[in-house]
Amino acid sequence: MLTNVFPSQHPLVAHKLTLLRSKDTKPKKFRELIRELSMLLCYEATADLDTEPLGVTTPMGQAAGKELRGGIGLVPVLRAGLGMVEGVWEMMPGAEVWHIGLKRDERTLQPMQYYANKPSQPRVQVCLILDPMLATGGSASATCKLLKEWGVTRIKYIGLIAAPEGIARLQADHPDVPIHIAAIDERLNEIGYIVPGLGDAGDRQFGTA
Ligand code: URA
Repeated sequence: MLTNVFPSQHPLVAHKLTLLRSKDTKPKKFRELIRELSMLLCYEATADLDTEPLGVTTPMGQAAGKELRGGIGLVPVLRAGLGMVEGVWEMMPGAEVWHIGLKRDERTLQPMQYYANKPSQPRVQVCLILDPMLATGGSASATCKLLKEWGVTRIKYIGLIAAPEGIARLQADHPDVPIHIAAIDERLNEIGYIVPGLGDAGDRQFGTA
């Protein structure tokens, strides 16, 4: 029984993920599916965000409403995470997007940071890390570490497919970070790809396969 790991049970997520996995799905459709899946997973992952009361005037009178408390930081892990921003940002257009570039060293499979851009003072209630593939967990863990060093106190991970190895690593390093995912697959192969997975999420979005 996994704690703090939330594989989606939603039929729409399962349906769209199946289309996404197919080797016959072309980049345009692949990007659309990533956008749609990101929205659905974001909906699930944000169910416990904090709100504040906000009154609103309707054409008929006054209603008690709510607004999200504080800002939201979206942190796509470049480059595959970029495609997830669009859908999530559509749902939360006021969110800030912070960029962190991590590159996997193909020899050690460890992440190396090559770019970071964020506000000088984090003023967000939560940062959502967006990275479709939780493979070794190295990039996700390094991103959490950076965000914590920057003063972020609440982090959630949203991804599409996880390997058990990636979940184990992220949970060991950052047990406070909930993992929201569309599916958990069998394993990693010898070059760090998820099996059966969907191949290279960056190449398939950007047509560079
Ligand atoms: N990154 C990908 O794009 N795919 C994998 O299977 C693992 C890491």
